[in-house]
Amino acid sequence: MADKSRRDLPPLACVIDGETDTRVLELHRIGDAHVMLCRNCYVRLLDVLRTKPTRIWEPPDELEKIGQALIAEADLFTRLAASHREFGQLLIDRVRRESPNDPDNRT
Ligand SMILES: [Zn+2]
Repeated sequence: MADKSRRDLPPLACVIDGETDTRVLELHRIGDAHVMLCRNCYVRLLDVLRTKPTRIWEPPDELEKIGQALIAEADLFTRLAASHREFGQLLIDRVRRESPNDPDNRT
């Protein structure tokens, strides 16, 4: 039974660049979401997060925390959008190269 549920799990991969080396994958909390990131993408995301607005209250009040979390999620989504666009285009290009319907592939 445990084997079946393990087989049903999606492969572990960084949601940004698709890295699958489990030695560098980590689950991170970004805003209200938990996402699998490799260390490289996490470090790059931290650089972006360091540029977010400076804290107003120490500790931050609830509205400030929500605002910071939304900005962190937006930064993650921006990176995900770029990554998904690139992967999607790679898939489309591959299908096009292999398609007999593509005029460039007709002999
Ligand atoms: Zn990554």
